[in-house]
Amino acid sequence: MSTILDNQNILSTICSFCGTGCGIEITVENGQPVRVAGDKKSPVSHGETCVKGSQGWGYIQSKERLTYPLVRRNNRLERSSWSEALKIITSAVHRVKSQYGSDGFGCFSSSRSTNELNFLAQKFMRQVIGSNNVDSCNRT
Ligand code: SF4
Repeated sequence: MSTILDNQNILSTICSFCGTGCGIEITVENGQPVRVAGDKKSPVSHGETCVKGSQGWGYIQSKERLTYPLVRRNNRLERSSWSEALKIITSAVHRVKSQYGSDGFGCFSSSRSTNELNFLAQKFMRQVIGSNNVDSCNRT
C-alpha cells in the first residue's frame, strides 16, 4: 500500500532484516528512500522498530553493492557475465555430485528471506539436488 503526498510516496511494507516482521513505512522522494519509520498500523510492532529496521537501509544506494557476478581467476575476483557464472556453477554442481553424491551439498536458508523463498530453497535441495541437508535460522 502506498500514499502519495506531493512528490513523496510513503510505502508500507515489512522489515526484512529478521523474522519478527515489524511494519515499516518508507518515505521515497524522487525515486529514492529518504526515511524509514515504524508503521503504527502494524499489529506486530505498533510503530516500533529496532535500529536495524529504522537505520539499516543505506546499503540500498551503496556504490559497493554487488550487481554482477564475480569469478575467481588466479586468486582474484573478476567481473563475469551471468552466462559464464552459471556455466561455472553448473559444472561445479555436477563435479561435486559425481564425487560425493547428493549429500555432498547443504543449504542454509535465511529468516531474511520470504516464506516463499525459503520454501523454494528446500524444494530445490530435495527435488533438484536430492538432499535433505537443509537448515535455516528461521527455526530458532
Ligand atoms: S525492525 Fe528490527 S526487530 Fe523488527 S523486523 Fe526489522 S530487524 Fe527485526
